[in-house]
Amino acid sequence: MNFIDTPTQKLFNANVFTTQAMQRRLPKNIYKSVLKTIKTGSKLEAGVADVVATAMKDWALEKGATHYSHVFYPLTGLTAEKHDSFFAPDGDGGAIAEFSGASLIQGEPDGSSFPTGGIRATFEARGYTIWDVTSPAYILENPNGTTLCIPTAFVSWTGEALDKKTPVLRSMQALNTQAQRILALFGKTDGALVSSTAGPEQEYFLIDKNFFFARPDLVTAGRTLFGAASSKGQEFDDHYFGAIPERVLAFMFEVERELFKLGIPVKTRHNEVAPGQYEIAPIFESANIATDHQQLMMITLKRVAAKYGMACLLAEKPFAGINGSGKHVNWSLGSSSQGNLLDPGATPHDNAQFMLFCGAVIRAVHLHQGLLRAVVASAGNDHRLGANEAPPAIISIFLGDQLTDIFEQIKKGGAKKSIPGGSLTVGVDVLPPLAKDAGDRNRTSPFAFTGNRFEFRAVGSNQSIAGPLVAMNTIVAESLDYCATRLEKDAKGDPNKLNAALQKLLAEIIKEHGAVVFNGDGYTEEWHKEAKKRGLLNLKTTPEALPVLRTTAVKQLFRKYKVLSTRELESRYETYLEQYCKSVAVETNLVIEMSHTMIFPAAVRYQNELASTCANLKAVGYKFDTDTLDKITALIKELQDSTAALERTVAESHATSLLAEAKHSCDVIVPAVLKVREAADKLEGLVADDLWPLPSYQEMLFIK
Ligand code: ADP
Ligand code: MG
Repeated sequence: MNFIDTPTQKLFNANVFTTQAMQRRLPKNIYKSVLKTIKTGSKLEAGVADVVATAMKDWALEKGATHYSHVFYPLTGLTAEKHDSFFAPDGDGGAIAEFSGASLIQGEPDGSSFPTGGIRATFEARGYTIWDVTSPAYILENPNGTTLCIPTAFVSWTGEALDKKTPVLRSMQALNTQAQRILALFGKTDGALVSSTAGPEQEYFLIDKNFFFARPDLVTAGRTLFGAASSKGQEFDDHYFGAIPERVLAFMFEVERELFKLGIPVKTRHNEVAPGQYEIAPIFESANIATDHQQLMMITLKRVAAKYGMACLLAEKPFAGINGSGKHVNWSLGSSSQGNLLDPGATPHDNAQFMLFCGAVIRAVHLHQGLLRAVVASAGNDHRLGANEAPPAIISIFLGDQLTDIFEQIKKGGAKKSIPGGSLTVGVDVLPPLAKDAGDRNRTSPFAFTGNRFEFRAVGSNQSIAGPLVAMNTIVAESLDYCATRLEKDAKGDPNKLNAALQKLLAEIIKEHGAVVFNGDGYTEEWHKEAKKRGLLNLKTTPEALPVLRTTAVKQLFRKYKVLSTRELESRYETYLEQYCKSVAVETNLVIEMSHTMIFPAAVRYQNELASTCANLKAVGYKFDTDTLDKITALIKELQDSTAALERTVAESHATSLLAEAKHSCDVIVPAVLKVREAADKLEGLVADDLWPLPSYQEMLFIK
């Protein structure tokens, strides 16, 4: 089945229990009730669930489903499912398909092995999955059958969030509440739900499966822990936007077909900067659905790659010296009646509103830069942030010259400097049309305004986008709350006073928080110095960034907007710190093992070959030099010493707390790992190719 035989229109949403499918199958009053829950977030009415469950089951059985699964998103960042059969013995030797409203609404997976950071001891292992009515159910296909998947939130029996979805839903509610207050100031009181929207661009690598399986580091850690630079790197930039190789294109077609069936609106595909690197991006959706779809996208990329004899690498930095992969999370907010609230409007009134939303984001990012850094912290992303190919670890905002100029004028009182069309007063003048391209081109900024949305580029390619979205939604909700409170007080409900109050508020915001705006090159040394002068944080590593989650400001923020309780926040802090330590430990063990069992034996074999050649030459009276043998011998010693040193750093670790352990991993173990790699990579450049046990960068990156 391909797109020639089956056109896209027939595929899109084919495997989704959409609202249209519900409308067709449900009694009118039930359908209306479900729709109300989806649109407004109201509670599901009693009696509705059973009817929906039956309709959903019938739909799924027609699609060949035998099982249903509550899908949830634990703190590992992965997707978890537990499958249950629809069928039960009917007592007469047959089987009937059953699916009650209760089974639809709530499930009880044995979640005892999911990380909870201490919220739930294993003896009270009960966690519940609860149907998220706002994210549609879908069918997952397998060559041998299909499964009905129901997106759910995962909570403990005490009601605490154990997953990534719950806080996304809560933060969206908080954002809606505060955005409504702002809209009301502008006379917009239709109450249409304001949602945050997200469009995540996903970067990934593809390599041939045979190379993948020949590398224990790729199989176990998802990235190469050894590997000398290939003689041809990415210096020619000939891969970017180049023609897509045939096998890769076939893979992309199939990925897109599978995603279309799941209702995921994939839009763009292209080669990325590094050889073997590609990007896929969907059209934006409501943040909650975009998050679920992003998880499905990662799973689909991996699954389909295998079918085409390839492995899809989602690690942030699979190859040293070659560009890493990120996930650019495009973020905005809007409603069905107001459209995108970060789109500059065509009237002064709309533009005043736009400037306010924009100002609120600037304030939010400045106040909570540490939090934004913390939510993208992971062992994998540490290798990317700060290297000169990804945004630096300093969080700043790129606004573009034009918008920056406008804010500068507001700061100076509104009329000092002229822009095309004269000077500008918020709420009186129309903004000049903002040039979009300028915003798009700055690739060094971690947080860029790109015409009608902000693009958070520090997110790692392997990460769930839930954390970044929760942070964005909540910090902007807080900022909108602050702005609404100020304007409600200063304008006292008088629309004539609103403009003056707004002008004053924006001037203040840009005075106090304008330090976070930076339009220049984020890679330069000068920026690092300048950022320090401006008081911006530069949290280079995960152990530096994660403790932000425990600061009073962050605890209060999440508590106030009922997104995460302090206990829930603490549990996340612990879980992520633990994950960091575990990732480093896994890689360390691998490096030690590969050094002993693969690199060292190859080097010694070659040394032996050289040594016997020397002995033979000597025996027949030839003159010879031992340059290579000397080098190999020295490098073998370097490999052994550095491996022994690494083993000592692991043994030495007597950390008394998780944070101390993470710091030890970061400051002592990771550099020691790199020393082993250094010796091994030098050996790779000397040892005979037929003796080297690992596929080379050259092979992995250029054989398509
Ligand atoms: P670029 O590579 O120039 O950043 P892409 O087209 O690859 O652009 O990706 C842009 C992403 O931004 C797409 O996923 C798109 O749907 C998303 N986007 C556009 N408008 C919005 C919006 N209002 N809210 C969230 N995401 C948006
Ligand atoms: Mg982009």
